Amino acid sequence: MEKKDFMQRAIDLSINSVKNGGGPFGAVIVKDGEIIAEASNSVTIDNDPTAHAEVNAIRKATKKLGSFDLAGCDIYTSCEPCPMCLGAIYWAHLDKIYYANDRKDAAKIGFDDDFIYQEIALKPVDRHKPMEIFMRAEAIKAFEAWMQKTDKTEY
Ligand SMILES: [Zn+2]
Repeated sequence: MEKKDFMQRAIDLSINSVKNGGGPFGAVIVKDGEIIAEASNSVTIDNDPTAHAEVNAIRKATKKLGSFDLAGCDIYTSCEPCPMCLGAIYWAHLDKIYYANDRKDAAKIGFDDDFIYQEIALKPVDRHKPMEIFMRAEAIKAFEAWMQKTDKTEY
């Protein structure tokens, strides 16, 4: 299989997802030229707003590999990752992202990917979601405990 086959699989998943009651998104994760995980969006099926195709695929891949680190893997997604999924891809250390539809295509059919990207670029006080910082002196104790822990698993 080659790049276009992996993307075609992600696209097929996205089309099937519409028929199955999910959102129109699919993703596959590839390691050493093989698909190791594939998923579609299941937000409305699972009542889980984080159940995007990319996040679902990452969860399957990490479970399959028994590791939280997906370095050495690529993700093919039928649409440009939203900020949440992009963050998840960074946290998972995937090597490369391939996508087909983009955030403007998603905006045209009513999805907020582009809106959230615009929010990130704003100062916290200018965003639609209010943000308030407080109790930092108490919260920092967990970070201090983390710094002092010598046998931690870093990620
Ligand atoms: Zn997403």
